[in-house]
Amino acid sequence: MRKKIVAGNWKMNKTLQEGVALAQTVEQMASALSGVAQVVVAPPFLHLTEVKKVLKTVSIAAQNCAAESSGAYTGEVSAAMLKSAGIEYVILGHSERRAYYGETDAILAKKVDLALANRLTPIFCCGEVLSEREQNLHLGVVKTQLADALFHLSAEQFSRIVIAYEPVWAIGTGVTATSDQAQEMHHYIRGVLAEKYGAAVANEISILYGGSCKPSNAGELFANPDVDGGLIGGASLEAGDFIGIVKAF
Ligand code: PEP
Repeated sequence: MRKKIVAGNWKMNKTLQEGVALAQTVEQMASALSGVAQVVVAPPFLHLTEVKKVLKTVSIAAQNCAAESSGAYTGEVSAAMLKSAGIEYVILGHSERRAYYGETDAILAKKVDLALANRLTPIFCCGEVLSEREQNLHLGVVKTQLADALFHLSAEQFSRIVIAYEPVWAIGTGVTATSDQAQEMHHYIRGVLAEKYGAAVANEISILYGGSCKPSNAGELFANPDVDGGLIGGASLEAGDFIGIVKAF
């Protein structure tokens, strides 16, 4: 049975003290839910080790890692460093990283390799921009992102990946993909994975939806057979909203 996951991407929000307080509340509320889904928080790098100290049932993710293993790369944080700090997941290929920091699928392929080599679980983000959806190019765009960044992996490596489908037009905009749009894409992604790695592998991959997900729409989105949870931005900054999304399961 593939995992149900709700992951909160805090982005560049919260001071260290605010982040630890938020994590404490999330942990308290999540632990009362008896494991309906794996809850994950992704604080900024600086907060990771302090936040980790207050988590028990909730897992922890970084929002990025370097594309090189070590050396003279000022300001970067390596996958090995994350692993050594007890970090479990790493978000890779978020559309903000792609758009503002020039992350290409070739760069992401290197990051994915380093994450897997260090036994981190990549949460690999893919998704089309609005003009691509308007031109009906969205399925092809996502297939190319998956193929270019991930399809060099073996089936064993691929089985350790989590996919997050995040239509860029829905991120932080308040506009959510409809339940049908989400299911169409998630089903398509699973089909592409089945073609490449076989149905057994594809059926075990968690595919999360991201884009203006909130307690009021999570239930409808998560009811789809190919939607295995969510990657949550804005609504993860308030414990009640975030856990409200987990409760949608
Ligand atoms: C995100 O940035 O991954 C995201 C889904 O953001 P939001 O929930 O705010 O749309």
